[in-house]
Amino acid sequence: MATNDCKVADCRPIPSEKNCSLRIAGTEAEVLTVALRHAVEDHGHKNSKELREQIRQMLKGE
Ligand SMILES: [Zn+2]
Repeated sequence: MATNDCKVADCRPIPSEKNCSLRIAGTEAEVLTVALRHAVEDHGHKNSKELREQIRQMLKGE
């Protein structure tokens, strides 16, 4: 696996009432899947294409 495939989603800069500090690392596809589920189940966001796109844009290379 190429190292530039590795992405990180970080909850800390995202405003939420939970003060979530979760970090998710993996390939973009893995991080997107887990981060989307986390956003919906733990943050109460509505699962949508827009949410997925938002999450994709906040991914950072590790
Ligand atoms: Zn979170």
